Amino acid sequence: MKRSVVVVGGGFAGVACAKGLAKHGVDVHLVDRNNYHQFQPLLYQVATAQLGVPDIARPLRDIFTKHGTVRVTTGEVVAIDADSKTVTLADGGTLSGDVLVLAAGAKANFFGTPGAEAHAYPLYCVDDAERLRSRILGIMDAVDRDQKYLQQGAFNFVIVGAGATGVETSGALAEMVRDVLPHFYPDLPTLLLNVIVVDRAPHVLNGFSEKSQAFATRALEEDGVEFRFGTGVKEIHPDRVVLSDDSEIITHLVIWAGGLEASSVVGAAGLAQGRGGRIDVEPDLTAPGYDDVFVIGDAANHTDRDGNPLPQLGSVAQQAGTWAARNVIATMSGHPTTVFEYHDKGIMAMVGRNAAVAELGSDRHELTGPLAFAAWLGVHASLLSGVRGKVGALASWGQDYVSKKRPTALVDHPEDYRIDWDEEG
Ligand SMILES: Cc1cc2nc3c(=O)[nH]c(=O)nc-3n(C[C@H](O)[C@H](O)[C@H](O)COP(=O)(O)OP(=O)(O)OC[C@H]3O[C@@H](n4cnc5c(N)ncnc54)[C@H](O)[C@@H]3O)c2cc1C
Repeated sequence: MKRSVVVVGGGFAGVACAKGLAKHGVDVHLVDRNNYHQFQPLLYQVATAQLGVPDIARPLRDIFTKHGTVRVTTGEVVAIDADSKTVTLADGGTLSGDVLVLAAGAKANFFGTPGAEAHAYPLYCVDDAERLRSRILGIMDAVDRDQKYLQQGAFNFVIVGAGATGVETSGALAEMVRDVLPHFYPDLPTLLLNVIVVDRAPHVLNGFSEKSQAFATRALEEDGVEFRFGTGVKEIHPDRVVLSDDSEIITHLVIWAGGLEASSVVGAAGLAQGRGGRIDVEPDLTAPGYDDVFVIGDAANHTDRDGNPLPQLGSVAQQAGTWAARNVIATMSGHPTTVFEYHDKGIMAMVGRNAAVAELGSDRHELTGPLAFAAWLGVHASLLSGVRGKVGALASWGQDYVSKKRPTALVDHPEDYRIDWDEEG
């Protein structure tokens, strides 16, 4: 019986898979470029200083202390040989197993938009969130020193994409403008700060019901968020964005929530890539042509039992990880693998204080407002990894709710904090 598995990626999918394999005493070698697991759904709260990094990230070695057969390696995977089940790390080292699980997740997809990669702020990892936080603080501190920067668009924050990430980030920024910045910068006209969301679609929250979309739009507009629907972003410069209707917004902060594609290393595996650069996996989560290579989570295009595509969600990744572990065990024991069945628990998005939208279960029972807000808090706290994360996040949310203080508003990326106001596109 084959006994060792290399798992690339310690996100929702990779961690769930490694845990499932460890339960059966399988030797697992889990490799990730970071030494921690990160909870992407709350990155925007790190960027807006509602949570600290330790609330949403946990060392992988800590997660697996009680799983004796799981070995964690920190390293960047640069090449994958699906035939020999071998991955090569940036330092030249290699890891091999009998089975390979590719769970390397996604990265921002800039769709070739000129200037986006150089000047926009994506939000896909802890580093992105810290960079964005430093940028926001850099702009605020600069205007606090000299309000002349207002003429250069300092108070225009542009968000590209009105999906869940764009909605949650714009809501958090609007709340920051209303509740937090006036205390931090009492001498500034912070209420003049504009949060502008641009999307080609005619509405927010694609995939949600019209009721949820209308609720989120209304709540955000009441909070001062401005929407430019039916509008794309043509170019991004250090000092402005050019929109598809050729209008321009002067700005020094563009947040990219405009879409994602599979991580670069997914393409290095030599497997045929489908939509979004992801691998169109077989119903049992194996890569086409390989019964000992599994691709899961945001690196894969998953489908439900009827062949409908599943969204790139933490819940899909986590369940695919657990299911893949089960199928790896089946393969090792000479049993047939089974078709992945996703248990749809619903979707939700935070819109702002006391305001969220939730569509629960596969029949999409709709909740909006404070009830959905409470459901969102409960679900996200329970999903956070480890007691430290759960307690830390709940304490931070409580403090934020009551006192509106932001003790994690720290500058840790000086290169993003320092702004060259004279740089032109
Ligand atoms: C801002 C944001 C908000 C979201 N909100 C929600 C939400 O509210 N609800 C929800 O269900 N889902 C949400 N999602 C989606 C959810 O987070 C993803 O679907 C989920 O994280 C996918 O899990 P994964 O394990 O496939 O990938 P990831 O969690 O991305 O993990 C992939 C791992 O692979 C590692 N890796 C990648 N390339 C390499 C390499 N070359 N070498 C070594 N390691 C590598 C990465 O470091 C990472 O740890 C959100 C995503 C984002 C970005």
